[in-house]
Amino acid sequence: MRKISESVYQITLGPVNAFVIDDNGLTLIDTGYAGSTDRIFKSISKAGKNPEDIKRIILTHLHPDHAGSAAEIKRRLNIPLLAHELDADLIENGTGGRNPKVLSPGLLNWLVFHIFIKRAPMKTEPAQVDQRLTDNDVLDIAGGLQVVHTPGHSKGHIALLLQEEGLLIAGDICANFIGLELSTIYEDMAVAKASLSKVADLDFDKAVFGHGIMIRSHASKKFKKAFKR
Ligand SMILES: [Zn+2]
Ligand SMILES: [Zn+2]
Repeated sequence: MRKISESVYQITLGPVNAFVIDDNGLTLIDTGYAGSTDRIFKSISKAGKNPEDIKRIILTHLHPDHAGSAAEIKRRLNIPLLAHELDADLIENGTGGRNPKVLSPGLLNWLVFHIFIKRAPMKTEPAQVDQRLTDNDVLDIAGGLQVVHTPGHSKGHIALLLQEEGLLIAGDICANFIGLELSTIYEDMAVAKASLSKVADLDFDKAVFGHGIMIRSHASKKFKKAFKR
């Protein structure tokens, strides 16, 4: 795993990223597709940390590339799972997404949709959500980890703002491959754009994404430029 800021690390799991915050034990944010547990644990061990120190899992949203290994990790370590209240019921019954899936413009999105998303199972292993999060909850991790409810990609999507380190963990509100761009799919594009505008008004220097590469500086300015008009 790669160090992103004072206490945050990124684990790349094929096409999707998960994150670890090292403070008050380890906090795992997102879990990759089903079957990612060993890769996550190895990655943590390789960085000289102990996977058994994972104390909690937070999911940015219910999709199978983020929630896929949550049930297995929870079972192995017997730790609590946290997710937004509006995705919690679906995570608990193993539903990996909602319809409709509104496709963003562009050839790349079309390809990603038809090659990966269309065929991906809409199911995940059911996992009990032990703490249901709401907008503006602040978790006692690394000086305060703020929950930012950002619906649109999924109804219960959250981004996480680590205030002290000026870092936004954006989840899938957008992607950043060759610059900030819309995610491939949304449940509701208008709601998603309102969430992007809300996030752009926050103050953060760095940003990391479920899909794509990190922004190392002036990140909220870049969000404003890309998503505010
Ligand atoms: Zn997603
Ligand atoms: Zn994703």
